[in-house]
Amino acid sequence: MRLNKLPLFVLFGLILGLIFYFPISRRDISDWIWLTTLILGGAPIVFQTLKGIFRGEFASDIIAMLAIITALVMGEAFAGAVVVLMQSGGEALEAYGLRRASSSLKSLLERAPRFAFRKRDGTLDKIDVKEVQVGDILIVRPGDLIPVDGIILSGSAEIDEAALTGEPLPRSKTTGNEVFSGTIDVNGAFEMRANKISQESQYQKIVELVRKAQLEKAPIQRMADRYAIFFTPLTLIMSLIGYLITREPTTILAVLVVATPCPLILATPLAILCGINKSAKSGIIVKGGAPMEQVGNTKVAVFDKTGTITYGTPFVEEIIPLNHETAEDLLYKTASIEQLSSHSIAKAVIERAGKKLALPQNFQESPGRGVEADVDSDHYTIGSYAYLEDKLGKKCYEGCGEAIERFYNQQKMLVFIAKNSLCVGIFVISDRIRPGIPALLDKLHILGVEEVVMLTGDSQKNASVIAKQAGIQNVKAELLPEQKVDIVRKLKETYNVTMVGDGINDAPALATATTGIAMGALGSAISTETADIVLLVDDVTKVADTIAISQWTIHIAKESIFIGMGLSFVLMIIASFGLIAPPIGAMLQEIIDFAVILNALRVR
Ligand code: ADP
Ligand code: MG
Repeated sequence: MRLNKLPLFVLFGLILGLIFYFPISRRDISDWIWLTTLILGGAPIVFQTLKGIFRGEFASDIIAMLAIITALVMGEAFAGAVVVLMQSGGEALEAYGLRRASSSLKSLLERAPRFAFRKRDGTLDKIDVKEVQVGDILIVRPGDLIPVDGIILSGSAEIDEAALTGEPLPRSKTTGNEVFSGTIDVNGAFEMRANKISQESQYQKIVELVRKAQLEKAPIQRMADRYAIFFTPLTLIMSLIGYLITREPTTILAVLVVATPCPLILATPLAILCGINKSAKSGIIVKGGAPMEQVGNTKVAVFDKTGTITYGTPFVEEIIPLNHETAEDLLYKTASIEQLSSHSIAKAVIERAGKKLALPQNFQESPGRGVEADVDSDHYTIGSYAYLEDKLGKKCYEGCGEAIERFYNQQKMLVFIAKNSLCVGIFVISDRIRPGIPALLDKLHILGVEEVVMLTGDSQKNASVIAKQAGIQNVKAELLPEQKVDIVRKLKETYNVTMVGDGINDAPALATATTGIAMGALGSAISTETADIVLLVDDVTKVADTIAISQWTIHIAKESIFIGMGLSFVLMIIASFGLIAPPIGAMLQEIIDFAVILNALRVR
């Protein structure tokens, strides 16, 4: 807060001094005013910079501090006060930028799914989180954000509390343990009792996210500070040379003043801020400066299939009952179990059932493979071919060979359902590729992406059909979440990798990649939480826009830095010959700043 008022105070002092200097011609008074302004305004900056130095931060504000001190020692109050104005103005602008960045995070939060599953009279209802009352019994599914603070009544799960505690490792929780709103259920499903209403619980989460956004400060500055490492010693050498040439102490000040690297301080955060805002306008939430910088350099783009390359809202095309089961009963049981999964296939099945369902017991999900649970004292295993084979052995497909043969060649997503130890049905799920994928690949290529890879937990057969339609050569199918991670990690050893995904099974890979992009509109909460960038609109072609905006932003930021540093350097040479008086130097530097700011704003 103090630093926000500082530039106004300094500007006022400068102008007041000028009034006494020119129209009134009382130079003694203006000198006093400027000196006061310099001391009062400069003290907090010098103090802050020293504090930074003691913390071992070698940042771009050191030259400004040296200029301020030198101006004071040499009685050049006006020039010193102008430096204070530049420096404090830059910091105020940066603080403003951070606030704006955190407000875009808040808007992400507002749009995030906010619901709870309430259990009442033996049925499950999806209700708005605001309707949750203290004492309500809620069901939490894997991948869900925990809606309100409460206590686990039955079941257990790993809970990711990073949003609240910063602790990266999930903690396992079970009956009797407390759970907190905004934390994420990583695997198991459980029943909980609400101990707080949403208003009280949710608040915590918002506060936490805003705080996290403010901690993002460091990456935003990084680019400027990288240049400061060269620029600061260069300035010191130049002022020394200047002194050796002219033997005038004012030369040192003149060089320091024209070198004050405000373009470095201003241009990067300003350009990145504009980039973040520009992205937010098209539904792309970039969580901070670092991903804004990195995503533009993507060399390998990795895409998940289901929900990313294909639509996130599939539907059940056909139900094939096997081994004397009826389609109706099969759908009822399957949908009952899928209520506890947040997978897009689960949504499709529940939609198809469309009526009151039973409550399953002992639910377990293997992300990207399938689910299992008990209904009416039968144990059901639902998922991919490999998942059932893994759980029950190949024997479970007894009597289904013909149907499997027929449907496997239909190029659809297949979900197999086993009752106890026997496969009793197949759900045929539509898997349509999103429009614009080939065009997206062309764009990515133009933007410098060298390789596109598709990873999926689905069958090899269907994966290769989809990949062919999409025009992706590099496909890996039947992957577990950890195998997706392995592939991304391997690629990351050599390349800048961007991973795009939607599901719980993608979250680990999103975290591993250089930049993770989540499909936020329909994707799981855990993936939006893990990713660095979230697409709020359900449109994967936005990935190209994201990369393009990043490249443009970084281009402008660098350009601003080079214009600013180049002009400063020219002035430094002139000043080192004693040809620029410190006050004139300060004014010239101000003009450069203005030009650089205008340039950085071009990102918009
Ligand atoms: P990806 O997103 O990696 O392309 P999926 O998330 O579609 O892969 O998972 C792959 C396969 O796992 C699906 O085709 C399906 O057979 C099975 N599967 C995963 N989760 C479920 C679930 N909740 N219900 C039924 N089947 C599932
Ligand atoms: Mg997916």
